[in-house]
Amino acid sequence: MRGVVMHAPGDVRVENREDPRIEAPTDAILRLSATCVCGSDLWPYRGVDKVEGPSPMGHEYVGVVEAVGSEVTTVKPGQFVVGSFWASDNTCEVCRAGYQSACVHRQPMGQFGSQAEYLRVPLADGTLVGTPEVPSDDLIPSYLAASDVLGTGWFAATAAEVGPGKTVAVVGDGAVGLLGVLAARQLGAERIIAMSRHESRQQLARQFGATDIVTERGDEGIARIKELTNGLGAHSVIEAVGTQESMMQALHSTRPGGNVGFVGVTHDVSLPGMDMFWSLVKVQGGPASVRRFLPHLMELIGNRTINPGLVFDLDLPLDQAAEGYRAMDERRAIKTLLRP
Ligand SMILES: [Zn+2]
Repeated sequence: MRGVVMHAPGDVRVENREDPRIEAPTDAILRLSATCVCGSDLWPYRGVDKVEGPSPMGHEYVGVVEAVGSEVTTVKPGQFVVGSFWASDNTCEVCRAGYQSACVHRQPMGQFGSQAEYLRVPLADGTLVGTPEVPSDDLIPSYLAASDVLGTGWFAATAAEVGPGKTVAVVGDGAVGLLGVLAARQLGAERIIAMSRHESRQQLARQFGATDIVTERGDEGIARIKELTNGLGAHSVIEAVGTQESMMQALHSTRPGGNVGFVGVTHDVSLPGMDMFWSLVKVQGGPASVRRFLPHLMELIGNRTINPGLVFDLDLPLDQAAEGYRAMDERRAIKTLLRP
């Protein structure tokens, strides 16, 4: 099969890779309908994370089940399915508490490289959620968004305890931040402040439900959020970047008793104890437990309540993956969809 392999920072190639096959009775093999490039793929692409030799890339996926192992009961060949970037059994105590991304049997899907024609999914019964019928083509991008960026934005909004009547601030205008705006709207937030300097992203934020846009960053951004919230800060802040600046911006934009949900993969971030101490803010984050939300999100997509697929502003054949990475790296594209 064809698949994306990263050889070194900036060096992404589409090559022949070995076809995946059933290895455990709990596996499924998918023929992928679509896959995409993640903001987190840019960390190794930019050389911030090490590239340890040629690495298959990608952890977001939707597709049609091609084959299943003998113990798989909940999905069957021919069915259209979505899964998250962690394979999970969905039965252990941690999963049942809603934290499937920390499942005691979890496996990162990135190791299998979903930017490819086919994908092996372990723990298929726990990981995959099917649709009643194969959806129409125009819904594919939205289902693909559910695999990571929508689920991650939703997890962040939930961690930030977004709810009716609340004011929400969103730090980060990548796909996750933008879909954090969408999640906040769906979860009933009254006011949603998106922090962005890019006009096209501001427009999409408004389309997803943002009521205010703040273009300032750092201390000025914090001051602006306070100005908009009677000097108090937002009730809920979604952090979707992962830098020291964005984390401090999130913490100090939150009012006492409020919540920060952080999902940007942190890079060299440390939170000063005294800032934490005096903030009286609750902080929860980590790799999103997308699987907790998948059935609900897939229902909202299937009945066309939400259209998270709008974050894909570049749609390329898999063979042009290198251009897809480049466009995201240069911020010409918010998110690249790849069609195997
Ligand atoms: Zn589990």
